[in-house]
Amino acid sequence: RIVYLNGEWLPEAEAKVSVFDRGFLFADAIYEVTGVIDGKLLEYEGHAARLKRSITELGLNLPISASELLEVHREIIRRNELKEGLIYLQLSRGPADRDFAFPKDPTPTLVLFTQAKSVIENPKLATGLSVALLPDWRWERRDIKTVQLLYPSMAKMQSMEKGADDAWLVEDGFVTEASSATAHIIDKTGRLITRPLSNAILHGITRASVLDLAEKAGIPYDERAFTPDEAMNAAEAFITSATNFVMPVTRIDGEPVGDGKPGTLTLKLRELYIADKIASAI
Ligand code: PLP
Repeated sequence: RIVYLNGEWLPEAEAKVSVFDRGFLFADAIYEVTGVIDGKLLEYEGHAARLKRSITELGLNLPISASELLEVHREIIRRNELKEGLIYLQLSRGPADRDFAFPKDPTPTLVLFTQAKSVIENPKLATGLSVALLPDWRWERRDIKTVQLLYPSMAKMQSMEKGADDAWLVEDGFVTEASSATAHIIDKTGRLITRPLSNAILHGITRASVLDLAEKAGIPYDERAFTPDEAMNAAEAFITSATNFVMPVTRIDGEPVGDGKPGTLTLKLRELYIADKIASAI
């Protein structure tokens, strides 16, 4: 692969970042993941806007302009002949002598790389995902997309050890989100229920689009927190994220959700989402 590192295009083996980089030493870095289909960017505007927000929240510095950033995204697709998959972007505060205080005028580290993978076809669609309920032990600014991903990794591993695909994290008796996706349910009357935006969850770009599409399709929704019990008694459950789009969840802690099969409304939302985003890809 050809990766982008601070203005240079390099073979991946030659792309090197300092051992003093604060992204490495302090997880002082943020990231974005943008889906790619047919060599085009999905939901680019949303991801660029959230990147800007994360930058502002942490006082980071984007070393290139917004239009250059879009051009880098386009160029990395071209250089890697990426048809389907994702672009990963990471921005750290940059290298500095190790000190908890932020350095004065750091040179940020901006990295982009691609991952080719099939995102429309997903073998898990046939059965849906199983999730395990685990405590949410992350920090309280989950609205900022930082690379502090140790706990989500541990939660994913613990879920897999229990035979599940992923975790749904629980805090104060309510589901927050999955380890790397937004959690949603559909109750027995056909209402979509999803947690409102706050510092407790990442403001999912896919979540926002799915709520829009639900509204247009006449699927009513409530933005409110739901309990694990409600989820286990729901008609349908699903997750959303940039590379999963809308994925059914059919088991929670080993118990089937509804009839244990991917839900009808869930699959309809997936179809609507993919069609809409392919049509507006840039
Ligand atoms: N929540 C968490 C913790 C995530 O890591 C992600 C995405 O990776 C999401 C939600 C979904 O966000 P998006 O739909 O913008 O990909």
